[in-house]
Amino acid sequence: MKDPSQSDLGEGGLIACHECDFLHAIQSIPAGGKAICVRCGAVLYRNIPNSLERALALNLAALMLFIMANVFPFLSLKLSGRVEENVLMSGALALYRHGMGELGLLVFFTSFLFPLLTITGMLYILLPLKFGHRPSRVGPVYRWVHALAPWSLLGVFMLGVLISFVKLIDLATIIPGISLFSFAGLLVVSAAANANLDASVVWPHMNYKPTGTGSGTTASEQNLIACHTCALLVPKASLHGQGHGHCPRCENPLHSRKTNSFTRTWALIFTSSILFIPANVYPVMTIIQFGRGDPNTIMSGVIHLIEAGMWGLAMIIFFASVVVPLMKLVVLSFLLITIKKKSTWRSRDRTLLYRVTEAVGAWSMVDIYVVAILVALVNLGSLSTIKPGIGATFFGGVVVITMLAAHSFDPRLIWDKKKSD
Ligand SMILES: [Zn+2]
Ligand SMILES: [Zn+2]
Repeated sequence: MKDPSQSDLGEGGLIACHECDFLHAIQSIPAGGKAICVRCGAVLYRNIPNSLERALALNLAALMLFIMANVFPFLSLKLSGRVEENVLMSGALALYRHGMGELGLLVFFTSFLFPLLTITGMLYILLPLKFGHRPSRVGPVYRWVHALAPWSLLGVFMLGVLISFVKLIDLATIIPGISLFSFAGLLVVSAAANANLDASVVWPHMNYKPTGTGSGTTASEQNLIACHTCALLVPKASLHGQGHGHCPRCENPLHSRKTNSFTRTWALIFTSSILFIPANVYPVMTIIQFGRGDPNTIMSGVIHLIEAGMWGLAMIIFFASVVVPLMKLVVLSFLLITIKKKSTWRSRDRTLLYRVTEAVGAWSMVDIYVVAILVALVNLGSLSTIKPGIGATFFGGVVVITMLAAHSFDPRLIWDKKKSD
């Protein structure tokens, strides 16, 4: 039995940086500390005391808040004696009712299904572990939880709610419901749940000492493959065939680098650049007041906000909907070009640039949520109605595809020397 107060990081073993593939010897670090890659600055591992108990308690709290956020009323809009009551899912449903089911699904997945799957997936792993029992198929479940986490956009949805709030403040009275407060709590608790999970509590220590020479080289140079899910280093020689196989610890497929990262990322950049045009040409929503319709594109929406004196809001929307997607396309293209040229120029800064690009990408979704929330809330017949526009679907496509492009990019290519694939 290991000492429960001491997290088992596998001291004496090796770990490869997931962003630059550099090998490090695993050392014990103080409680609350983290180990950082000496070459690119990525976080390698953490030491979180009582991580299992903390992560379990926080995920249980998150599940309860999630249920509360979905059963109670979310927001109500009061105008000329009429009250329009909404639940959290109303936005997705309203888009579906307006014939924009794809966009409705995107909102449903990112604000309901993926957050729910992430929380329940973690509970499925942590709850039995707490009682000393290892659930079956931990590897695949953990892998899915990690794949879905970047698509679980509770914080972005909350920003969308706040923006809708400010936009409607002159039009009507908005009454926040219990669900809104539960949702705000959920946001904080689920962020804490992620921050308190030390992956080493999930993976059993393996006496699997690869024959590497420690620091100074990369995993690939030592003919080792780092598992993308559990970070175990597996010697290529132990795998049959062309370096493809499964991790002996978490059973997930092993790849030295993300498959076809270069071509796939270019294809996704190209697709989203094309979609960016109709996303900006067609209206994202039409505001109908007293029978008169006013179609809004992303840019005309921003201009309307400036005219109304809401500078801050205009800047948020402009930054999230125009600057971030364009910046992502430019940065990823730039990184791919420098990789193609086998540039060694400021590799650490280029890795940081990638890290930032990947982190901010999801915030572009905020305008989609604003449209969904406004369409659901403002549905008062000829008095005032907001209808979604096809531009929003194209824009949703831009956001999803640029996020996929960032995920398919492998930052280790920045560091790879000529011989790697
Ligand atoms: Zn690194
Ligand atoms: Zn693994």
